Amino acid sequence: MNTLVINCGSSSLKYAVFDNNESVVHEGRRERLSSDEGQSHQQALAEMFTELDRFNIHAIGHRVVHGGDAFRAPTQVDDTVITAIEQWSPAAPMHNPFALVAIKASEQQFPGKPNVAVFDTAFHARMPRRASTYAIDFDTAKKHSIRRFGFHGISHEYAAGVAAGFLQRPLDSLRLVTLHLGNGASACAVEYGRSAETSMGNTPLEGLVMGTRSGDVDAGVILQLLQTGEHDAASVNELLNKHSGLKGLSGIGNDLRDIEQAAANSDDRAQLAINVFAHRARKYVGAYAAAMGGIDAIVFTGGIGENSASMRERILQRLEFLGVQLDIDLNRRTQIAKEDEYAVISEPHSRVDVIVVKTNEERMIARETSRVVNSDRVTAVPRIPIAVSARHCHLTKETFEALFGEGAEPTVDKPLVQPGQFACKERVNLIGPRHRIDGVRVLGPLRGVNQVEVSRTDEFRLGVDAPVRDSGNVANSAPITLEGPKGTVTLKEGLICARRHIHMHPNDAEQFGVKDKDEVSVSVLGGERSLIFGDVLVRVKDSYVLEMHIDTDEANAAELGGGASGGLSVTDIDEEGGVKQMGEGACQT
Ligand code: AMP
Repeated sequence: MNTLVINCGSSSLKYAVFDNNESVVHEGRRERLSSDEGQSHQQALAEMFTELDRFNIHAIGHRVVHGGDAFRAPTQVDDTVITAIEQWSPAAPMHNPFALVAIKASEQQFPGKPNVAVFDTAFHARMPRRASTYAIDFDTAKKHSIRRFGFHGISHEYAAGVAAGFLQRPLDSLRLVTLHLGNGASACAVEYGRSAETSMGNTPLEGLVMGTRSGDVDAGVILQLLQTGEHDAASVNELLNKHSGLKGLSGIGNDLRDIEQAAANSDDRAQLAINVFAHRARKYVGAYAAAMGGIDAIVFTGGIGENSASMRERILQRLEFLGVQLDIDLNRRTQIAKEDEYAVISEPHSRVDVIVVKTNEERMIARETSRVVNSDRVTAVPRIPIAVSARHCHLTKETFEALFGEGAEPTVDKPLVQPGQFACKERVNLIGPRHRIDGVRVLGPLRGVNQVEVSRTDEFRLGVDAPVRDSGNVANSAPITLEGPKGTVTLKEGLICARRHIHMHPNDAEQFGVKDKDEVSVSVLGGERSLIFGDVLVRVKDSYVLEMHIDTDEANAAELGGGASGGLSVTDIDEEGGVKQMGEGACQT
């Protein structure tokens, strides 16, 4: 199987054909393409297709820079995927539109062959919230998707994998700092196989010093520049992205080779550029070691990381306290030949290994493309939202009146997703043998049976043992006292810990291949901590809207915070006892 890998940037087109053994059988590149609505890219792609005529292409892998929070893994392209990539284009205007040009051209050129989008952001998509969150006003950040996404994920993941191979240890047992130092530069804390922190943020502008990009800058500086009246948003954008970094500091250009040459000839600004670059990178290594509680290896990659021994040496200075012992001679002698994948430049007894890896994003894309194409994952699957139910109660008319006064009616506060159901303004207090919980929401409409739903944590607080029950099945459940503004009611039974369940319309059930009362497992692949929920009850009704309900304890266990979203797959135990994957989607809580 030949896999074509296309990396279509704003001014360049790189491509390579890989065979089954991940060997390159053909490669090429076109440079200096103009960004004229994609026309020169289309021309370059057409030339590439002619050049590739003799190859039997089975699948096409595309590098896509920005997948936002929509993609956590390489994904086979369909119309939904194209729309999502388009949606993230404003956040990556120099990349996503050109990747889309390549995707659409490939679909035309190779009809019926799978196209796979491999995202630079995907590796970082499961960064902990504490690392992906900016400390700005929460609602403003949410409204404008202002969070840290991270980039260069394909390269960081590849470099981490090569390092783990050298160390002969599984990636999920290692804490690595990977430094992708090229014209674009970023650091990543790869903690037990996952990106736990990375230096690029909402855009590729944050973090390390780069060829022409500033990396970290006090946001106040941007405001100050705007307030001078000499700058507007466009010129600040230009300044920070194109005239800063090594180029802006040195006044020479963005190529470190020229700057190193000038520095050797005592050019002060060239020396300053090198010092700022190395100092920033060293600072990040230290920070990431602290964030992970230690490191096993530091991995250099990218044009500068692979080639500049002096920059590596500078960055690693003063890191002995972390256990880094660089073999200075070895570092200086190290030249990684093209086909070599890595070189080790630390002393044999160094507690932290230092490894230089030649990055190979194309190979990683080919690998991921084959993996996606060869997996039998169901791709056209419905999305299943997850709702987190806080403690609440359903009351009969009689109980409601006893608590809120004769003739009282529930008042609608807000509608719920399930048609006809709503949260009421009314709240009651629960009084258990041990403690009380005040302000528990009443849900409407009124029902024929009282039912109070709490989490396991609530039960401990109240001091009662409530059984896990399907909604409506309250016989012999736990007693509880309810207190309202007009009275108190003690229920002999009615307190339950609601069994997790999915509401489904019959059409959804058909798509998932399940029926009412089936028990399934649901794996929440979102959040910081993936989790498989077993014993999930399927409830099918014409009036239901697809939605899974879990309680606050369950949401906390999967770290699904308010406003969080995550991938979800529904699984079922097949006849052989294996887990059959049935669906995937996003949860919105
Ligand atoms: P990349 O974006 O990964 O291709 O990296 C490109 C950058 O690597 C160039 O702009 C140079 O600054 C740097 N580079 C490449 N070779 C060397 C070298 N031998 N010494 C120092 N820097 C180098």
